[in-house]
Amino acid sequence: MNLRIPGPTPLPPAVRQAMVEAIPGHRSKAFEQLLADVTRQLKPIFGTEGDVLVLTGSGTGGLEAAAANVLSPGDTVLSVTIGSFGERFAEDAEAFGAAVTRLDFPRGQAADPDAVAAKLQATPGATALLLTHCETSTGVVNDLAGIIAAARRVQPSLTVVVDAVSSLAGMPMRADEWGCDVVVTASQKALMAPAGLALVAVTPRGWEAVERAKMPRYYWDFRRARKFAARSQTPYTPAINALQGLQAGLSLIMAEGLEAVYARHARLAKQVRDGLRELGFRLVADERVASPTITAAWVPEGLSANALVSLLEDRYQVYLTGGHAKDKTIRIAHMGWVSEDDINRALAAIAVATRELQGGGA
Ligand SMILES: *Cc1c(COP(=O)(O)O)cnc(C)c1O
Repeated sequence: MNLRIPGPTPLPPAVRQAMVEAIPGHRSKAFEQLLADVTRQLKPIFGTEGDVLVLTGSGTGGLEAAAANVLSPGDTVLSVTIGSFGERFAEDAEAFGAAVTRLDFPRGQAADPDAVAAKLQATPGATALLLTHCETSTGVVNDLAGIIAAARRVQPSLTVVVDAVSSLAGMPMRADEWGCDVVVTASQKALMAPAGLALVAVTPRGWEAVERAKMPRYYWDFRRARKFAARSQTPYTPAINALQGLQAGLSLIMAEGLEAVYARHARLAKQVRDGLRELGFRLVADERVASPTITAAWVPEGLSANALVSLLEDRYQVYLTGGHAKDKTIRIAHMGWVSEDDINRALAAIAVATRELQGGGA
């Protein structure tokens, strides 16, 4: 099986093994060591010396938690949208009663820092900026450092909240250096761990926003999570076996070395892009902003993306997914536990299946 969807991603044997080990109670010393170790290993991946909270939920849960913890009802929020995950984040903040203004960029492109600054100029009283690091629907990476610097020149007190669900551990993230205040990721993407955990970095400026915020919150309350995290515990029962898997995934990442992990992702992304172009696919993302973790591509003229995805699944056990343009785009994930051989096999299957659908036979 070749699971090439953007989460859940394949689990290394050591991660699967860790998940079936005996489960410590969440008030035990063994659990405290587990949570402390996971938190410690996550900090350099987030690029923060601030706090990292481990919450039980999916990535969307983490984003909702961020919205509930840094916003107040009626707050003016600028949401920069370059695809469907940016749109989801905007809707989430809206559902909680924020007044969301959107700045949308064409699919396949990254956000332009100057345009973000201009939009902020035209949005007086904005308290928060919602950004996507890697937009999974199009395979585009935003220049967070550039966008945040431009935004803060207009509105220095902005709270910057970043969706880093499909980027973290697949490409560099420097939350402190770039000025991200709250950064959200999930366990089931590049971290090579099972679904079930939302991981949230909160910097000192992020905490100031948390203290000011007036949204109702209980389960997701960062203040209570921080109080428990100080003694390496969580307020409520966490997904303990997911945490055991995450610890094993982090150990593999640290053993390979963060820079080597990022270089592997960049190398495999290029392999995917080159391979798809060779087969007559056109890439959705502008090459300069193409993601190291996920690639979206237009299928060759006349081909059905849905038919290709289902043929690959049925006949070759290669699992892709559709993209933002229905039946015209596919996406291939190359995040987490993935090798050159996995990509070679996926590309070979895509080549045969494409030929077959084009009438050339298998
Ligand atoms: C996967 C993903 C999410 C969260 O998805 P969940 O299914 O809720 O874990 C959010 N944002 C991006 C960019 C993603 O890729």
